[in-house]
Amino acid sequence: NRENLIAMKGRESTTIDGKKVELAGNIGTANDISSLKKHDAEGVGLFRTEFVYIERNALPTEDEQFEEYKKVLEAWNTKPVVVRTMDIGGDKKLPYLGVEEEVNPFLGYRAIRLCLKEKEIFKTQLRALLRASIYGELKIMFPMISSLEELLEAKEVLHGAKLSLDEDNIPYANHIEVGMMIEVPSAAIISDILAKHVDFFSIGTNDLVQYTCAVDRMNEKIHHLYNPLNPAVLRLIKMVIDNGHQAGIWVGMCGEMAGDESMIPLLIGMGLDEFSMSATSILPARKQITSLSYETVKQLVDQVMKMGTVKEIEAFMEKMTNA
Ligand code: PEP
Ligand code: MG
Repeated sequence: NRENLIAMKGRESTTIDGKKVELAGNIGTANDISSLKKHDAEGVGLFRTEFVYIERNALPTEDEQFEEYKKVLEAWNTKPVVVRTMDIGGDKKLPYLGVEEEVNPFLGYRAIRLCLKEKEIFKTQLRALLRASIYGELKIMFPMISSLEELLEAKEVLHGAKLSLDEDNIPYANHIEVGMMIEVPSAAIISDILAKHVDFFSIGTNDLVQYTCAVDRMNEKIHHLYNPLNPAVLRLIKMVIDNGHQAGIWVGMCGEMAGDESMIPLLIGMGLDEFSMSATSILPARKQITSLSYETVKQLVDQVMKMGTVKEIEAFMEKMTNA
């Protein structure tokens, strides 16, 4: 109930046997920060920057973007803020870019693919982000990476943006963590290799489920096939977390799955370090986590990993929750 949740404010998100995780929030604009504060988030795990582009009739200038990013970082200068570079395309259209209609937009010209083709647009965003970095604890994250080539190319553009700021004598923070989303199966499969080139992973289950199961996330007709408990999805998630830890980096999750009460025990058991969710899910998630035993949910994971159907996994999870 409500009082129990309020009692969770100011507390750490730690299991009864001492496994600590971070509960962060997802935002779309600077205005969303106040709600995250109210619900005692421990940072921003996903700032979807698409809104900065969508809310206007032409590309936002570097200064316009800088103002928005600065607002977010200043509002919370002691907590980490993971800013995802723009993820336009797929279901998020931008008419003024004049991109042609595609037969399969989710498999098309989207996010990092667009940014690596339109490098000036990308570099403008990165320069704005770097300039804002001195106002808080910025972490930069690339969406829709599907290969090592793309990751290295994106990092190269970031390096170029830093050099251009050096030339202009404009300051930026010394150490900025750079991470990538794991939302394409090809990235999950080579996550051991990718992990050596980033400071963190954040698993985007909304897209990872869609691409792993070949189920359009917007298509109601096949919605029953869209399930994060699909054993193939669970195996990929576990693999990504293990590979990240092997390389010594932290692994978070910012898809809907991260805030889902029925999923959290499994994710804790897999060793996920950071959960990013909507503001209202944070305190309930903390309450749940503080009553879990890490040792117990780890064994839960071992058992689930052997199961072959969603039905079997769901039934097992339900039994465990009610036990
Ligand atoms: C995801 O794919 O899980 C994700 C967080 O990104 P978006 O929902 O913005 O595609
Ligand atoms: Mg996504």
